[in-house]
Amino acid sequence: MDLKAYIRDIPDFPKPGIIFKDITPLLKSPEAFRAAIDELAARYKNQGITQVVAIESRGFIFGAALAYAIGAGIVPVRKVGKLPAATFRETYELEYGTDSVEIHQDAITSDDKVVVLDDVIATGGTLAAACRLVRSSGGTIHEAVTIIELTFLNGREKLNGVPFHALISY
Ligand code: AMP
Repeated sequence: MDLKAYIRDIPDFPKPGIIFKDITPLLKSPEAFRAAIDELAARYKNQGITQVVAIESRGFIFGAALAYAIGAGIVPVRKVGKLPAATFRETYELEYGTDSVEIHQDAITSDDKVVVLDDVIATGGTLAAACRLVRSSGGTIHEAVTIIELTFLNGREKLNGVPFHALISY
């Protein structure tokens, strides 16, 4: 299945100069959504993965389906102030300023082998911060994965050697 055919470019969203990769056509297609999850599940089943760490908010959609398919749990990484219990926080650079993500302190243990998942890797700041959260929790990262990689932004170089995979590359 050509998943790329289900990704739509939205120019100048959310601000001028950004070409937003819109995954809603893929989500809306029963065949494309199933193909994306099947491809992820084939890659991560029988690998001893205990948790899928999914990044707010579009990462949750794929993360939940993948976790179910491979018999893992799902752990949310969220923007600041959304998680109710004690959290670890990681801050990363944006073009202007910084942003932060959090994980529950007791979500991941040293027994966990995880896949860290988001919909898109652009500059890599978000995924790298999520990987730091997993590592500081003591978990082992099997791989970081996104549906879409914007290769011209070299985001995977920010991941400090964490293995990385994307279903679709631009
Ligand atoms: P970054 O930290 O720069 O790798 O940005 C990744 C996060 O921002 C992901 O959670 C994406 O959902 C979102 N994002 C960044 N750039 C785009 C884009 N061009 N299209 C869609 N989502 C994007």
